[in-house]
Amino acid sequence: SMSKLLLLVSLLFTLYTNCICAQRNCGTYSHSQEFLQKFPEVKFKTETLKQKLLLKTNDPARITIPVVVHIVYSQKNQKFTKAQIRNQIKILNEDFAGENTDITNVPEKFKELIAGDTGIRFKLVAITNTYTQKTAFLKQGDSIKFSKHGGHDMGKYLSTKYLNIWVGNIIDIIRKGDLFGYASFPWDKEALTDGVVINSRYFGTRGNVANYNKGRTATHEVGHWLGLLHLWGDKEDDSPICTNDYVDDTPSQKYSNGECPEFPKLSECHETENRELFMNYMDYVFDNCMIMFSRGQKQRMLANFDNDGLRLGFVDSSKTKIKRNLEFPEILNYINKTLSWSKVGKTERYAVKIRTLDNNQIQTYFTKGTSMELPDIDETKLYEITIESSSQTAKSASRPLIVNPR
Ligand code: ZN
Ligand code: CA
Repeated sequence: SMSKLLLLVSLLFTLYTNCICAQRNCGTYSHSQEFLQKFPEVKFKTETLKQKLLLKTNDPARITIPVVVHIVYSQKNQKFTKAQIRNQIKILNEDFAGENTDITNVPEKFKELIAGDTGIRFKLVAITNTYTQKTAFLKQGDSIKFSKHGGHDMGKYLSTKYLNIWVGNIIDIIRKGDLFGYASFPWDKEALTDGVVINSRYFGTRGNVANYNKGRTATHEVGHWLGLLHLWGDKEDDSPICTNDYVDDTPSQKYSNGECPEFPKLSECHETENRELFMNYMDYVFDNCMIMFSRGQKQRMLANFDNDGLRLGFVDSSKTKIKRNLEFPEILNYINKTLSWSKVGKTERYAVKIRTLDNNQIQTYFTKGTSMELPDIDETKLYEITIESSSQTAKSASRPLIVNPR
């Protein structure tokens, strides 16, 4: 009967709301799996890149990442003041500098693993505020990243040059519990969706949810955005196997840790006495319990900015150009299927090369200008776009842009 149904619905709702506060739940791993299911043609390449990201030898100069925060709200309590947003950026900077005050809580045994200053900093350059009628955004489909789906486009803040952080009410249709956030890995990024998404309830320090109000969900997700995996490796946290996170100094662990375990907690992945590094940002513990990156994680993150790194767009390109003694076009924007790029000296014409990644076919278009509307290309496919400039004396090419046109 109707009343029984209502009772059942209210019971389920109670169970659901009760479990909301309990356990961190990050959607990055499944987001990556969904990406590869959609575009299996890049699976081999991304697998290789993921495994060999750690090539870093010497530390680069400081890397400053320009950040754009997109607040998407349907209710007042999903809005944030500028001060609250700035505070979240400040926390990111402290955590990546190893200047968080709670770092002193790292147990003696693990102190030698502390990364210290990663050299990575974040600079807030823009905030967008969008009222939406949509009460929740599914992770599957990335709707929060598109204006036409009630979210907000990255627009002129192309992900090769900006870290876009979307903040809104996000949900995962498959996993139970509250979705805290999800990020794109450097190896399976797509230009229009690359970035970080954080549930409004876990953004900043406003204190919506006890134990998760210190801004560490952002630190965790940005860690993914820079190539870090969870401590339990390349799998879901409830899968009972020991796999690799591709970082040598983080001990293997089988499952995620919740709340704040007591030290020492022995790992189930070794016969020897190996303790779990649950106080690391890449575990699932409370905000005030995750307090450090390891040295190995720092190296892995910095590899993004190495010579052939996956996030080279964030390295000051004037310096790169001097080093390579080469001027090359840079793709600046991709808005409404119109691509624009930077002008290169005496270039007579530019070649726009569009490679379809599932069959490697290349279409080439020529222009004298520095922008072009792309021809009709298949919205279900993934493309790699490169701009080549040529004059009588010189030839150069942009870094490729991976796009699923929408
Ligand atoms: Zn995560
Ligand atoms: Ca490890």
